[in-house]
Amino acid sequence: MLGKIINNFFMSRNERILKNLNDLVIKINFLEKDLLKLSDNELKKKTDEFKLRLKYGDTVDSLLPEAFSVIREASKRVFGMRHFDVQILGGIILHRHCIAEMRTGEGKTLTATLPAYLNALVGHGVHIVTMNDYLAKRDASKNRILFEFLGLSVGLNISGISQQDKKIAYLADITYGTNHEYGFDYLRDNMVFCQTQKVQRKLYFALIDEVDSILIDEARTPLVISGPIEDSNSLYQRINSLVPFLIPKNKKNYNKISQVGDFYIDSKQRQIHLTEKGLIKIENLLVKYNFLLKTESLYLSKNIFFIHHMLLALKAHYIFLKNIDYIIQDKKIIIVDEHTGRIMSGRRWSDGLHQAIEAKENVCIQNDTQTLATITLQNYFRLYVKLSGMTGTASTEAFEFNSIYNLDTVVIPTNKPMIRHDMSDLIYLSETDKMNAILSDIKDCVDRQQPVLVGTVSIEKSEQISKLLKKINIKHNILNAKRHAQEANIIAQAGEPAAVTIATNMAGRGTDIVLGGINRYKNNIKHYFNKNSSFNKLWCKKNKLVVKSGGLHIIGTERHESRRIDNQLRGRSGRQGDPGSSRFYLSLDDSLIRFFASDNIISFIKTIGIQKSQSIEHPWLNIAIERAQKKIENQNFDARKQLLEYDNIINEQRAVIYHERNKLIKNSNIHDHILSILKDRIYFCIKQYMSGDVVNADSFLALEQELKNNFYFIKSINKFLEHDTTLYNNVDKLIDLIVTTIQFSYSKNTQLITNQYSNMIEKSVMLQILDIFWVEHLNTVDFLRHSIHLRGYAQQDPQQEYKRESFFMFQTMLESIKNNVIKCLINIFYMDFEQKKNIYTRLLDQKDYDAFHMLIMKSININ
Ligand code: ADP
Repeated sequence: MLGKIINNFFMSRNERILKNLNDLVIKINFLEKDLLKLSDNELKKKTDEFKLRLKYGDTVDSLLPEAFSVIREASKRVFGMRHFDVQILGGIILHRHCIAEMRTGEGKTLTATLPAYLNALVGHGVHIVTMNDYLAKRDASKNRILFEFLGLSVGLNISGISQQDKKIAYLADITYGTNHEYGFDYLRDNMVFCQTQKVQRKLYFALIDEVDSILIDEARTPLVISGPIEDSNSLYQRINSLVPFLIPKNKKNYNKISQVGDFYIDSKQRQIHLTEKGLIKIENLLVKYNFLLKTESLYLSKNIFFIHHMLLALKAHYIFLKNIDYIIQDKKIIIVDEHTGRIMSGRRWSDGLHQAIEAKENVCIQNDTQTLATITLQNYFRLYVKLSGMTGTASTEAFEFNSIYNLDTVVIPTNKPMIRHDMSDLIYLSETDKMNAILSDIKDCVDRQQPVLVGTVSIEKSEQISKLLKKINIKHNILNAKRHAQEANIIAQAGEPAAVTIATNMAGRGTDIVLGGINRYKNNIKHYFNKNSSFNKLWCKKNKLVVKSGGLHIIGTERHESRRIDNQLRGRSGRQGDPGSSRFYLSLDDSLIRFFASDNIISFIKTIGIQKSQSIEHPWLNIAIERAQKKIENQNFDARKQLLEYDNIINEQRAVIYHERNKLIKNSNIHDHILSILKDRIYFCIKQYMSGDVVNADSFLALEQELKNNFYFIKSINKFLEHDTTLYNNVDKLIDLIVTTIQFSYSKNTQLITNQYSNMIEKSVMLQILDIFWVEHLNTVDFLRHSIHLRGYAQQDPQQEYKRESFFMFQTMLESIKNNVIKCLINIFYMDFEQKKNIYTRLLDQKDYDAFHMLIMKSININ
């Protein structure tokens, strides 16, 4: 059976990989008959046996056949589902840290149980990563029964749970959670003050569901934890009020020298460019409305930020559109992901753009924030020892997976042959013609009891179609990012006879559309096995009706920028050998065609000469559109790559800082470390006054003063020399003597409080100063990144410049951290420490660590 599937399938590389796995699948199947004889309890004991064998020399690879057959046997007993051979193949591919492309409905959730079980035996934890809380919850609760049957624990890591629950979730053998939660937990873990506050363990194996969505679509926005800074809200409002004074320039005039227009809109790059005339107008407006003095220029460095704010306000008005790029919910601006149509609650556009949009929409402007911690999803997931992923659509992005994550993509054959009929695109002259054609296609489906899923690229489009359907009395469900919570339920019913469901790309992803509608009683084992129950009978009837009508029909109302997203939409139909069909409708008004394929397509259509309301269908057009999509995919890939390349630089620095932080948190005693920094600082100070081999007594006064100011050194260097005249000819020895004296005095002062507490003071100072500088560095480097392109580096690569400058800034920061740590500790231990030590002692005795750290924070005075 498996051999046959493989022979009929795919190109050579893929085929070769699958063929090589054939023997392994046969072996797993062969082991099945012995397991049949085992009692449930004996099957469960296999888990402990495997764990033991791993300790005594077996490897996960050598255990794979047995472990896979054990979990398959358990699944048969618990769910009544036996992993298909193609699922076993998918499981092996996932175990071998590759991406398994498995079509919708092939049972990825069950496939994941195979590598999850095997790798959980190692004991470091397996993270199964889903796109949203709903899917994490659903999969965890479903598979918990299976894993617990085999003696493994399951944890759930979703937003809003307590720190204690998170710890429990991470300690489980297998944890289900969302990409955001895992990433944010990592960042939060690197902001805590003691080891016990951390929730994550070692990052060992991550298995990402819908991997393209997580590692590609979401990878363009880094995860950011931010905190508020000063209030600049009124500035956003006031700049916003200047927008109506500025006139956009006609695109056609752009290249000509034209007096008309203050700015032009680059829709492709989503940028606004001010014209010379526009800049003069802005300067005048700023003077008129008292932002600038009459004598002041807009181009002074302190005023340049007005241009930035003006550009933001114009972007907010002319590029970022309500119900396409964002929605307003509870008087808040919520980002809508342009690829998936999903709302990104809690995420904010950076650099003031979010505030500019808040000002435009006249909702409450949230304070400007500064980044406290940040990481890209790419760099987070690269922290895992082992990574793998699964999705229905990966092959178009195989190159990116390979070059960025070192993940190979393997296409797994379907369990049953795919018979969906994908029809060629139909192109219309205008949007209205297209809409009419879509409506008549939907009506035709409904008349024949065929369910239809209409995919749109935006919420606005969904609503537009919904309105038109209402006019002709066609009942339908509208599913978009606004109704995220109900989406899974609605999509589950999208296969009912004559059901019409309108959905944005993302909606209900991860939920299977079953022909005839979901069999609600399938999960109720009693009803499920009772084939004659009335529930099952009703469902069978509906299922037959839908199959006869042609299965699920997919209508794409526009081509998406990325072929992968179109394939996802198509992939909703034709699961497990089901019948189905798909068709995309396009018009010359579609943005994809307008911006990327217009010239070729329009001239082609002109040659052919179609009439209003007629459509054109031609393989050449499909090729032209695919070419346009590839062009945008490449652009987007470059944007993600660039983000990653920039993040890689900060990533190395983050690794250094987090490593240092972890060392500090883990070590109970950092006194010696402090003494060595102290020594370093003293050397640095003395070297400015002494050089050569012979001591120059003339500079002692100044040096003594400096040492006193910085290190509370109150001895006379001349006395050292009187005591030991050989020091005149031995600078190093003299310096060593000064260093030891200061170190001794410092240590003596720390002993005024118990050893444990003095250590905690040192640790708190070091951690807090490290954090303050790191946060400042992150924000400066971010600013550098955004502004580096503005600088006129003749012939210089901005990325190289960024690398060079940020490295220099990082080095300077490390020096500043050391300086400030010593300065602060000297202050604490020398200035009124006799009195203050009682407060420290009392707080630490009471274990009031927050107040303690706060007190330390107050004594940190950065320079
Ligand atoms: P995917 O995520 O690949 O689209 P799902 O994991 O949602 O697919 O599974 C689709 C449906 O197929 C689910 O109802 C699931 O219970 C069922 N299924 C998966 N594997 C099997 C199997 N081996 N035997 C029977 N049913 C299965």
